[in-house]
Amino acid sequence: MTADLTRLSAADLADRLAAGEVSSVEATQAHLDRIAAVDGAVHAFLHVSAHEALATAADVDARRAAGEDLHALAGVPIAVKDVVVTKGLPTTAGSKILEGWVPPYDATLVERIKAAGLPILGKTNMDEFAMGSSTEHSAYGNTHNPWDLDRIPGGSGGGSAAAVAAFEAPLAIGTDTGGSIRQPGAVTGTVGVKPTYGSVSRYGLIAMASSLDQAGPVTRTVLDSALLHELIGGHDPLDSTSIPEPLPPLVEAARQGATGDLTGVRVGVIRELQGEGYQPGVLARFHESLDLLRAAGAEIVEVSCPHFEYALGAYYLIMPSEASSNLAKFDGMRFGLRVVPEDNPTAERVMAATRGQGFGDEVKRRIILGTYALSAGYYDAYYGSAQKVRTLIQRDFDAAFAQADVLVSPTAPTTAFKLGEKLDDPLAMYLNDVATIPANLAGVPGLSLPNGLDDGLPVGFQVLAPAKADDRLYRVGAALETLLEKEWGGPLLAQAPELETR
Ligand code: GLN
Repeated sequence: MTADLTRLSAADLADRLAAGEVSSVEATQAHLDRIAAVDGAVHAFLHVSAHEALATAADVDARRAAGEDLHALAGVPIAVKDVVVTKGLPTTAGSKILEGWVPPYDATLVERIKAAGLPILGKTNMDEFAMGSSTEHSAYGNTHNPWDLDRIPGGSGGGSAAAVAAFEAPLAIGTDTGGSIRQPGAVTGTVGVKPTYGSVSRYGLIAMASSLDQAGPVTRTVLDSALLHELIGGHDPLDSTSIPEPLPPLVEAARQGATGDLTGVRVGVIRELQGEGYQPGVLARFHESLDLLRAAGAEIVEVSCPHFEYALGAYYLIMPSEASSNLAKFDGMRFGLRVVPEDNPTAERVMAATRGQGFGDEVKRRIILGTYALSAGYYDAYYGSAQKVRTLIQRDFDAAFAQADVLVSPTAPTTAFKLGEKLDDPLAMYLNDVATIPANLAGVPGLSLPNGLDDGLPVGFQVLAPAKADDRLYRVGAALETLLEKEWGGPLLAQAPELETR
């Protein structure tokens, strides 16, 4: 009985909770048991907050019993990426420099999760400060892909994706600066959504690159993402870049899409995001999915975004520039680690020693790149040029969206690679995000959903929509999901190998 509870979608679990067939304490305990059984092998979690989760669950059960009107997801447990601050729960962003830090406040999205009564199971592993595509840059060890424990779960949010794929949590929160929700989704067979920039509050996210960061849902179904997105999104006066408008109707769009009818929807295939560098099996699944969309009544058109070829280059100047500035606050004075050299411990030497020992190699690489790109004499040539490219990419999107309602591409160029395979080759690692980065540079929303296997490993399909039209992601995503699951006879994750439990 309890084992089955971990296999339900969040929407189905919510229905059973509402019907009184199961309690939140039972559902939460089932997930904690699953974590105890498999997380030794998967290592999706950096911290499990069993006590707090069960207390929330008991409170929701009591309120439900008293007849209180609860949120649709009340009592459904959730995991939160460790880059999001949680009052009273350790928050490290995957870095040694924040080891032992317990935030005194909640991120806005965490406040909303708590207010709605979702028990927080714990904090998930990630690349240090969200820098990476494999979670191997975590200071706290690798997360393993539940489909094959020798392979990466994607990154930076590999912990959230693996937790959801391994049935340790029905819902999780991720953050996406260049693909860290969507690419882990693709390689673990889960659904991940990067909302429109400014539509989910960044208050309480430990910033990597403020003009690119966006938090969003990590789930097993498109409808679950819509439900979670509606819960965490919407205006927040504490974030100066928050859009002061309500979200479009996301759950409604997902339900409409689930009928499998896309008559009249124009789907634009981005010419530049396929071909060279993409694994043949990834391209094969992509074209099969296009056939399904066509059969559902969508009109498939080809669009060209000629500046996307410079997106990765522009990203790796803008992102490190912003990160170098955002990470300056980790100085050994305010949060977490403080390393005091024995001789002559001046403030400057304490800061240098703390940052030297507290940051990992990838973080240092990006701080150095960023300070260089921003330095006098180079600013115009690097940062300035990258900003111009960013504008050209935004114009490419504008032109493409004049021809199509949504744009599509493979989410990631390959399936999950082996742990260690790309660790010593930063450029190879950066290339995982060629298809996801343009959306961050333009601020538009993107969704990844599983669309098949290649050699037994999941492949992801990406849908992009204009800013503030996130509902289109859910309509098209849900339609494709319905059609694919008809072919598979159920969800793709049902085909994942059973994990050994202990
Ligand atoms: N993999 C990309 C990077 O390393 C994106 C990371 C992210 O989205 N947080 O920067």
